[in-house]
Amino acid sequence: MGERGSAKSSGEHVALAGFPVLLVRRRVRRVTIAVLPPFGQVRVTAPTGTALSEIERIVSGKRAWLEGKIATFPADPGRERRYGEGEYALLWGRRVPLLPRIGAPGVSLVPEGMILSARSDEPKKREAVLLAFYRKEVQTEAAKLLPFLSAMTGLSPSGVTVRKMARRWGTCYHREGTVHLSLTLAEYPPECLSYVLLHELLHLRYPDHGREFHAALDRYMPDNRAVAADLNRLHRLSAGAWTDHEQ
Ligand SMILES: [Zn+2]
Repeated sequence: MGERGSAKSSGEHVALAGFPVLLVRRRVRRVTIAVLPPFGQVRVTAPTGTALSEIERIVSGKRAWLEGKIATFPADPGRERRYGEGEYALLWGRRVPLLPRIGAPGVSLVPEGMILSARSDEPKKREAVLLAFYRKEVQTEAAKLLPFLSAMTGLSPSGVTVRKMARRWGTCYHREGTVHLSLTLAEYPPECLSYVLLHELLHLRYPDHGREFHAALDRYMPDNRAVAADLNRLHRLSAGAWTDHEQ
């Protein structure tokens, strides 16, 4: 993850070392990290001029401590996701303010956030529009990645479909030669989609997770283990990302 632009003193939501973080810039001497009640929001206070990459390195060094600390906080029980004003959606690793509207179903991105338009304000209706958007996003990005990954590996699936999957990021039916991807991959940083697509492509050649499979993954994507770990960590943390936890 690279630079994400300058921060405001009021704090901004960024992903650092796989954690959703409220980053606050202050005239302080060093970077401090806190996990806040009631729901375990991570807040990082950093000196005004410190590079984001340096802050990320420090957060990364506290990974084990952070995970343990966050796990001691409960999930927010009092709130239910309504896809309404003041909530957020994740898109390619970024947290985007939701701008709900009543109208023809669809999503459009504007500088202020994500316009989520549905026929009614029912959460189910809005959710369906968002998921359809995610599905299209993953389809589009996978179609861009595929020629590159196929040229690299010499593997081409007979088809790639994107669907809602309950428990997996992707599957490969190696007999049919097809790959299926989870539409929720649109919530995570783009390298997570690259990793899952490569992983499933390699199953066309190696059906299981044996030594040869991992050797190929390492060859084609040397940081695959870090990306997979990030994806799983972000997944655990993403449950509360739609709402502000600060008091
Ligand atoms: Zn697999």
